[in-house]
Amino acid sequence: MNTLTSAEFEFSFLEEGFSARDIVEQKINESSMTDDRDAFYVCDLGDVLKKHLRWMRTMPRVTPFYAVKCNDSRAVVMTLASLGAGFDCASKMEIQLVQSLGVDPSRIIYANPCKQVSQIKYASTHGVRMMTFDSEVELMKVARCHDNAKLVLRIATDDSKAICRLSVKFGAPLKACRGLLERAKELGLDVIGVSFHVGSGCTDPETFTQAISDARCVFDMGDELGFNMNLLDIGGGYPGSDDVKLKFEEIAVVINLALDKYFSADCGVRIIAEPGRYYVASAYTLVVNIIAKKVILNEQSAPDEEDDGTNDRTLMYYVNDGVYGSFNCILYDHAHCLPTLHKKPKPDEVMYHCSIWGPTCDGLDRIAEQCSLPDLQVGDWLVFENMGAYTVAASSTFNGFQRPDIYYVMSRPAWQHVQQICAQGMPVHVEESCPAGIPACCGRESGLEIPAKPCQTRVV
Ligand SMILES: *Cc1c(COP(=O)(O)O)cnc(C)c1O
Repeated sequence: MNTLTSAEFEFSFLEEGFSARDIVEQKINESSMTDDRDAFYVCDLGDVLKKHLRWMRTMPRVTPFYAVKCNDSRAVVMTLASLGAGFDCASKMEIQLVQSLGVDPSRIIYANPCKQVSQIKYASTHGVRMMTFDSEVELMKVARCHDNAKLVLRIATDDSKAICRLSVKFGAPLKACRGLLERAKELGLDVIGVSFHVGSGCTDPETFTQAISDARCVFDMGDELGFNMNLLDIGGGYPGSDDVKLKFEEIAVVINLALDKYFSADCGVRIIAEPGRYYVASAYTLVVNIIAKKVILNEQSAPDEEDDGTNDRTLMYYVNDGVYGSFNCILYDHAHCLPTLHKKPKPDEVMYHCSIWGPTCDGLDRIAEQCSLPDLQVGDWLVFENMGAYTVAASSTFNGFQRPDIYYVMSRPAWQHVQQICAQGMPVHVEESCPAGIPACCGRESGLEIPAKPCQTRVV
């Protein structure tokens, strides 16, 4: 988990007509006047709002519980808390983070089927009741350590078409479910529903249909055994950007159909999901600087007819963030990260075969094995978009390379929209101490107090 600084609470307002991309340019210009040129992020919290509105529009029956592991930045969690999202927490620390923002425990699902005993006790004493399980041993631990858990049976899915598979590790096979439910009954536990995760980076929406139909079977078993089954949790796995083969809306169509078929709107079952990547990937842009460069001449390559003169060399660029930092997503999340250029190349700009490397002394620290870039110089910048998911959350400072600063921005209309949603019709009070007169949101109903935004509004 990142050490959170109070700076992370704060965002700058985007002035009218300016986008997060303009802030990228501004920071590049500022930084280029110095020798520092450290890597940095710009995070547009307005993009998180957009994703939320898109979710509610596209899957109105499904309440999102944001998967905190994907990006635990306080500003992101805070934005989502204000929007009324719930949270999928997998550990005591994640529960602490979410509760420190005033989120009610009823808005948390402890969605880790294999929990440490002391952390189950923590959930119990902090009012977190919804939690997943997929084994008998887990049931026995919960029976011993939690006063009034509401259990959700995680079932395995066919995740063979997902980029990051999860069902090898978690999820009870269908044929084990009846036994588990019977055991829960014997132990006097309360099972309220079923969850699954199709795998992160799901590429086949029919996986959801199968999983929802399997969940229906387990609901029927639960009802037979006398449980009041009322929660279906359809997990995560939704794309975080639109540069993917399978778009969010295409998955949603399939899910909505399956839900209407197996869990009709009047069946009294509450439906939640645990999107992670969906909410944060596109909000973050990472900017890195070229710190070193090598030119490798390919002597043996014989010139052929199509040779435009660029095949005689390969360029190696070394930049100031790598796989031990933000680009850990390449190792852990099977991500492919390709940069866009800070300066638009001229139409006749010659492009070269290039590789891009991180700053540490490990040979493994390679960001891109093969890409096409112009002849850039030390001190030039490269921009990586869609860098919000499984990046900052798992980065290290290996070899003494620090994590990039993150600049949070949001437009005024987006901020007002967040406040409106948060207030849910509650009166909005104006923070006296704030000369800019920006009203603070008092989401009393949601149990959340959002602090007034910093008054030293940045003019860009
Ligand atoms: C990681 C995880 C998620 C989030 O997955 P995404 O693919 O990022 O949406 C949701 N639920 C559980 C249980 C997870 O482990």
